[in-house]
Amino acid sequence: MQIGILSEPSDKRVALVPEVIEQLVQSNNKVLVESGAGTKSYISDKLFEQAGAMVTSREEVLKSTDMLISINQLSADSYRALKDHAVVISSFQPFNDKNISKDLSSNNITAFSMDMVPRITLAQSMDVLSSMASIAGYQAVLEAAARLPRYFPMLTTAAGTIPPAKVLVLGAGVAGLQAIATAKRLGGVVEAFDTRLAAKEEVESLGAKFVMVEGARDDKAAGGYAVEQTEEYQQKQQALIQEKAIKADVIITTAQLRGKPAPTLITAETVKSMKPGAVIVDLAASTGGNCEVTRNGETIEVNNVTIIGNSDLAQEVPMHASHFYSKNILNFLKVLLREDGTLNLDFDNEIIKSSCIAHAGQDLFNK
Ligand code: NAD
Repeated sequence: MQIGILSEPSDKRVALVPEVIEQLVQSNNKVLVESGAGTKSYISDKLFEQAGAMVTSREEVLKSTDMLISINQLSADSYRALKDHAVVISSFQPFNDKNISKDLSSNNITAFSMDMVPRITLAQSMDVLSSMASIAGYQAVLEAAARLPRYFPMLTTAAGTIPPAKVLVLGAGVAGLQAIATAKRLGGVVEAFDTRLAAKEEVESLGAKFVMVEGARDDKAAGGYAVEQTEEYQQKQQALIQEKAIKADVIITTAQLRGKPAPTLITAETVKSMKPGAVIVDLAASTGGNCEVTRNGETIEVNNVTIIGNSDLAQEVPMHASHFYSKNILNFLKVLLREDGTLNLDFDNEIIKSSCIAHAGQDLFNK
């Protein structure tokens, strides 16, 4: 298999790191890398070459590759430039972009979306959502700490004692749990909300307090994802969050609903009631945000509260984010490719079936 990766201008990460390329080359594959693809992850062309890749132009990668791997969806022109029946692997987020699988299938592309890999034990090593969410949760706390006009830990000095920062984490999934762990390491006092009762034990094991709102809908059949809550629950939750937010120095929000807009957890009214200098980091910004005043991709100040709307914080740790993404891809390829490097499209395999969104001219996501 001739596998290609490109430079992704809007991202600091790279889809394959040299360590993984070396393994792919040993397993009868050829790897083509666009020159400069690793620059923002501090990986030089020379390191790619030493791993056995051929470093070349973007045009050459697009023209020669049988399988194109990327982190983000690429331009329509890039997909049109590929060979007929090429395979592409990326995070297409078809729940948020309903046309993507149709467009890819009309170009005769076989497409796999890494965010559609089922969240089953067998596929944990391929779970890019978890790898990236964990990094984002960590980075969210660091961004908040850097913006906060006060100390994070409790400090006792000759000039007096400073109490620890109060941190509120909304949504205790993968990103939220890593945010809790990071805030605890920095010395913060942490409270967390989630609608899934299963999160309680995990939150408490990290030394944070779990805040319960009675009457949450929790659906085991949703594959680990949360479900939308009733109007009554949402009002109860917003009121309790307001009570906690007034005292918080930092709020990290991570609550997502698959294929739906993120739930509003912090109202504009709540922001008005917060302490001057407080910081909100909204990791759900790209799907509408958990805070009513969040602007996706922007950092704004409202009533002396800083609100960072960024769902892309994993790329701020590009070395390790590239490393984990790349390892997730390698584990996925162990299922998708045979030992001789040919494609093993076994649609009886749950991982292949769930992640393949276009094949043989058919839109498999919307069928
Ligand atoms: P996510 O990014 O979809 O959502 C983040 C968190 O927000 C979730 O914990 C969710 O319950 C919570 N949330 C949603 N609506 C909320 C609301 N109104 N109020 C408060 N919280 C709300 O989820 P995620 O972090 O990707 O994963 C969630 C869970 O899925 C994990 O904690 C884990 O239990 C499970 N999971 C399983 C596997 C696996 O088995 N392979 C892999 C990854 C995740």
